[in-house]
Amino acid sequence: MEARGIGKGFTGMGWEENVRKVVPYTPGEQPDKEGTIKLNTNECPYPPAPGVGRKAAQLAADKMRLYPAFPEETELAQELARFYQIGRDELFIGVGSDDVLSLAFMTFFRSDRPLFFPDITYSFYDVWADLYKIPYETKALDADFVIRKEDYMQPNGGIVFPNPNAPTGILMDVGQVEEIVAANRDVVVIVDEAYIDFGGTSCLPLIHKYDNLLVVQTFSKSRAMAGMRIGYAMGDSRLIKYLNDVKYSVNSYTLNYAALQLGAESVKDEAYFKESCAKIIRTRDNAEKRLAQLGFGFTKSYGNFIFASHSSVPAREIFEKLKQNDIYVRWWGKKRIDNYLRITVGTDEQMEALYGALERICGHQSNAPLQSND
Ligand SMILES: *Cc1c(COP(=O)(O)O)cnc(C)c1O
Repeated sequence: MEARGIGKGFTGMGWEENVRKVVPYTPGEQPDKEGTIKLNTNECPYPPAPGVGRKAAQLAADKMRLYPAFPEETELAQELARFYQIGRDELFIGVGSDDVLSLAFMTFFRSDRPLFFPDITYSFYDVWADLYKIPYETKALDADFVIRKEDYMQPNGGIVFPNPNAPTGILMDVGQVEEIVAANRDVVVIVDEAYIDFGGTSCLPLIHKYDNLLVVQTFSKSRAMAGMRIGYAMGDSRLIKYLNDVKYSVNSYTLNYAALQLGAESVKDEAYFKESCAKIIRTRDNAEKRLAQLGFGFTKSYGNFIFASHSSVPAREIFEKLKQNDIYVRWWGKKRIDNYLRITVGTDEQMEALYGALERICGHQSNAPLQSND
């Protein structure tokens, strides 16, 4: 066997054979250049509720000496339970929904049967499945990128899908979600509702009817607090107990003191939350019109993003040219979706800058009638 590497005495054998090797999830870029228009990671373009900033200014450094409180005993838990009209024992809070989902995969998916999720979906699911050695099978979306519920009615070891799906933005109605949950009472079904606040109807009420349903949401998108890392799951109290048992076997103190305080302030301000979501929905509706005029086609999105494909200019080319103009959107060179861009809905001003750039990049190649006199 040939030695690799240049280290003295390094043989390439030994400890490295016993390393857990994973291909990690790749998040969207976070350029910190001033003036960049960032429409690539579905962050909220507006600030969090004003109370969050006020509270942040009052955080006491002295409190940081202490380990933080257990999330379920905090004002944040109280506020979320009130907001969603659920019991505190039906709520689990974690460090962003990525933490919640990762723990839920670890807790609930240990069958020999495969976990099911869509072929085009949040690209963290297969990473966790690989990491935890969970067997899985992806189920192809139909030609219109819609989840076929029948695919999820075969024997399986668990089910997870986002609703609305990512990156397509397509929403499944609650009735269909219920059919999937009802057909799978012997496994846990996780519905990842990261984008539910942008016009969708949550399947949350179903947690009182089905003890195998876990609904996961996040502060990162609609609550403009991606940097604070707060996510939560809602479900039957037994699901929540099992989740807590695993969490408290990994790391007891995950949510930090600041996140716990500031998260609560966000939930208290319902009016601001509603208005901020409504603004994004209005901008999204307008973006559909503008992008159509520029020659784009797209799925009907219920997220804070649009999943769009141009009639003649390849997505990759648009992606790269936008980046040269300091406008970041998301593109995956993946099968089936390599001619699509996922464009986060920004402020109206940011979107105008986007349309201007797109007009320069695609304008003369669109399906518009050839009538120009320029
Ligand atoms: C953004 C996102 C998440 C995770 O977000 P957190 O910041 O970890 O809460 C989970 N699922 C989907 C589908 C997402 O788009």
